[in-house]
Amino acid sequence: MTTSVILGMLCAHLLCFCVMFLLISTRLNGKKMGMEVFGLGNLLLGLAYILQLLDGPPDWGFMSVVNHTLTLCAPVAYLLGAMRFFDRPTPVLRPLLALAAGYSVLQVLVQLTLGDAARHALLAGLCVLLFLGMTVAVLYGRRSFAKDLHVEMTVFAVLIAGICILNAAKFAMILNGGVAALDMSSGFQKVFYIYMSFLATVLPPCAVWLVLRRLTDELRTLAAHDPLTRLLNRRGLMDALDAHFRSRTAAPAYLLIVDIDHFKSINDTHGHNVGDLVLSRVADVLKANSRQGDLICRLGGEEFVVIALDTDRAGVLQLAERMRSAIEQSEVPGTAMKQPILCTATIGVSDEFTSAHAFDEFLQQADAALYRGKAAGRNRVEWELAQEV
Ligand code: GH3
Ligand code: MG
Ligand code: MG
Repeated sequence: MTTSVILGMLCAHLLCFCVMFLLISTRLNGKKMGMEVFGLGNLLLGLAYILQLLDGPPDWGFMSVVNHTLTLCAPVAYLLGAMRFFDRPTPVLRPLLALAAGYSVLQVLVQLTLGDAARHALLAGLCVLLFLGMTVAVLYGRRSFAKDLHVEMTVFAVLIAGICILNAAKFAMILNGGVAALDMSSGFQKVFYIYMSFLATVLPPCAVWLVLRRLTDELRTLAAHDPLTRLLNRRGLMDALDAHFRSRTAAPAYLLIVDIDHFKSINDTHGHNVGDLVLSRVADVLKANSRQGDLICRLGGEEFVVIALDTDRAGVLQLAERMRSAIEQSEVPGTAMKQPILCTATIGVSDEFTSAHAFDEFLQQADAALYRGKAAGRNRVEWELAQEV
């Protein structure tokens, strides 16, 4: 009786969260992050437990075969949903239908040749293998594709390992005591379904939390980057600069302002789209010629700011000259023009500064140097006046 109540509650949880997952997936246009597949997994498992409630003792029959098939397909659906969440696009319906058909046939064969206990042991054994594989995959993910979700992945690994151990115990009990071990009033079945209820309560909010994290991370990235060049925008640069100077060991920074020469005439001659290609190309050149850790930003229009960290005056002059020369030599690919489009840039460099609050002051300083560079003929590097090289 107690186990049936627990099972009933478990069904209610699974089906409620199935609806919630599906509702969330309708709000996620395009990239659904596997939510609809998690919903499907919950539906399959909920149906399996409803059949178990209706079917009573674990007898051989059509309902029981369907129940076992649903019970195996549900965790596979969760696995496929997780793959989608981690950006590994995978088909869902076909593999699940193939699994359902194959496993149903296998059940009939096992039942007819080895008997009912073997069929129940088969399900428990396959669940052990599946959950073991999932635990290993989650632990591997913690160190590779989901490094940013270290805590969450650890929690998932522990929870999945728990259900793996319970299935291993069930497997051993069926081998020792046959289907009698599956008596719903046994202590083991109570523990088993209490644990499943616990999972059904804990895992869905965890999945929702992961989606929320992913969405807020994406929003933060969007808010901090320029969509055309994927460089930092001004807001992203200020945040990164703040983070740099908050560190106790932060070295002074130098600010370089890079302005493409006669960019308006590139737009006027070749069109705005080609102008955009030139901007992207210059952004790539700046990225390729900066050091890891340097901050690169598109300030607006055809102006870029590079913050050089961990360097000195000689180093930043070298960096600016390297960037200027690389821009001069770069060609814009992918246009239908016979002649590749070339451009140059003038670079103004500030003196060193040690606080994010000083950004505007040193931007003006670099801008003044840039202005002098433009006046002196463009395609050159100029330092702030007091320290001119
Ligand atoms: P100078 O050598 O003195 O820097 O001259 P310039 O033509 O590069 O500078 P100016 O400020 O006169 O022109 C900048 C042009 O950049 C004007 C504007 O139409 C263009 N622009 C600004 N943002 C974008 C953009 O996102 N895409 C494209 N294609 N053009 C842009
Ligand atoms: Mg310009
Ligand atoms: Mg400009």
